[in-house]
Amino acid sequence: MSSHSRKLKFKAETRKVLDIVINSLYSHPDIFLRELISNSSDALDRLRFEMLTTPELDADRELRIDILPNETTLIVRDNGIGMTEDEMAKELGTIARSGTRSFLEGLSEPDGEKTPEFIGQFGVGFYSTFMVADKVEVISRKTGSGEPGHRWTSTGHDTFTLSEEEDIPEGTSVILHLKKDMDEYLKSYKLRELVRKYSDFISYPVYIKSDDSTDWEKEPVNSQKPIWTRPEDDVSDEEYNEFYRHLSFDPQEPLSRLVFHAEGTTEFYSLLFIPSSRTMDMLMPDYKTGVRLFVKKVMIEEEADELLPRYLRFLKGVVESSDLPLNISRETLQENRTVRIIRKALTGKVLGLFQDILENDIDKYRKFFTDFGDMIKEGIYADMQHREELADLLLVWTSRSGNEQKSLKELVEELPEDTDRLYYITGTDRKELASSPYLESVGKSDATVLLFDSPVDEFMLQSLGEYRGKKLVSLLKEVDEEDLSDAEKAEKKNAEETYAGLLEYIKDQLGDSVEDVRFSPRLKESPCILVSDRNDPGDMLRQMMRSMNQELPDAKKILELNSVHPIIETLQDLYEKDRSGDRLKDYVQILFDLGTVMAGARPENPAEFGQRITDLLK
Ligand code: ADP
Repeated sequence: MSSHSRKLKFKAETRKVLDIVINSLYSHPDIFLRELISNSSDALDRLRFEMLTTPELDADRELRIDILPNETTLIVRDNGIGMTEDEMAKELGTIARSGTRSFLEGLSEPDGEKTPEFIGQFGVGFYSTFMVADKVEVISRKTGSGEPGHRWTSTGHDTFTLSEEEDIPEGTSVILHLKKDMDEYLKSYKLRELVRKYSDFISYPVYIKSDDSTDWEKEPVNSQKPIWTRPEDDVSDEEYNEFYRHLSFDPQEPLSRLVFHAEGTTEFYSLLFIPSSRTMDMLMPDYKTGVRLFVKKVMIEEEADELLPRYLRFLKGVVESSDLPLNISRETLQENRTVRIIRKALTGKVLGLFQDILENDIDKYRKFFTDFGDMIKEGIYADMQHREELADLLLVWTSRSGNEQKSLKELVEELPEDTDRLYYITGTDRKELASSPYLESVGKSDATVLLFDSPVDEFMLQSLGEYRGKKLVSLLKEVDEEDLSDAEKAEKKNAEETYAGLLEYIKDQLGDSVEDVRFSPRLKESPCILVSDRNDPGDMLRQMMRSMNQELPDAKKILELNSVHPIIETLQDLYEKDRSGDRLKDYVQILFDLGTVMAGARPENPAEFGQRITDLLK
């Protein structure tokens, strides 16, 4: 060992991953090769990108990946960007991905069959080499840095060593000292098979040195044709899925894919995937889209978020266009006209794909909507242009749909032609919503009420306003005079005249506790209910703002009364006979508290409410 050699300890998490790799993942050792090739490909992508701005780097070399089987070692080598000493210590000594913890927790539930597929997901790809090797060396030198190269060595136990070394070429070589029973990975036919199976789409040539000669195979093993430029019919599902894995680190198969080649004034290729499921980080504000942007075969951006609207950030994939300049930067992407055209075309295609799944495979769509429905809803308030199209993609719970969500579009198509309103209520618990007293205000039996239980619904509904010409009406809010039928208007007017004095009395008694007291012909069974002002942002929104440390003013409620309920008769009776007595006063207070309870809230003073009810029962 040279005098520059340092012995370093793996971080605890890395240690744990190594243990898992070495002890429990040996049943699928093949995957180590695709992980190494994938790392090399990324390193070559980075170098190609650097070459754009640093022409000195371009020494007219062929960017390539070599696989060299020797007597007992296998070397995977690339002439990509390479690593500095610090990078080697950091990248090969720690596991940085935020998902690693949950990855480890997932592994603690032993599932022998599935576990190996998870490798590669959280940046443990490189460590898969310890499945086949009992010692791994990495020699690397940062391209163009002028710095010396280094050798990293480990047997996959507690430590690794790092030492400086002369005459290391730019790029990275990984040297695997294969375990005794792993010598099949020295056979070129086996290596060729693995490269074709897992890494065919890699856009750099992969060469293998034949077993029995000192010669290189002249032709690369992989076809190198970017998978996104190939016609869909020529590519197998396995190839697409393998590419998806390379892009996303998701061990599961994608839910669906979109292959789209646009020709005409703007030409571009795109290959997008809907992931199998939503991951936690997709909801984080700083989550980046996974769409890679290539211009003339060079990866310009790994996470280009200008190519799709933000609400479609869960899609993974690649877009390549030769109509963009190579020197396009993150800042100029946004203002680029071609980028805007691509974004528009892609959005349309993607929404078409969703619609297609909805119409042809409802079970798959339900799974999709469970995971990504909130993002569709986000689109409804964020993307005015596609609002109606996005609303067509909604699945909704209704007062009558039981345990299954229904397509809003289908539901509306089945409604009688003359229906001009869609009623809905919002809340947090679907079961509670299904038996909410607010439902009765449109007659429990004859109207379908939409039930919304996700925190994003309120935002969405307020920006949607109407759907397919039908006005969305919240039953939690005061009745809009326009929404009443002529008969209902007459009923209301009549009640206002008959009970004018009583109404004044009630308003007087309740004073500041309410904004107003009104008769509502919508109520059919309950005597009263508390509703919100039409312009009130709603309790859900209020809660949400609170969770972001912002207070919206608490709006006063409106008490709606059922003019045909016997209680009103009783009150009227008392009003006529004994309007200065305590009983009427108490009754009015009970009515208000009852309205509060019916609205699913706590009465202002539960003890007093209890006392009044007890007195009443006596
Ligand atoms: P991942 O590839 O998922 O990030 P790995 O454990 O496979 O995780 O690799 C860790 C890191 O080591 C990579 O992100 C990269 O920075 C570095 N690395 C690995 N292989 C190479 C290589 N051939 N050339 C340059 N850097 C590499």
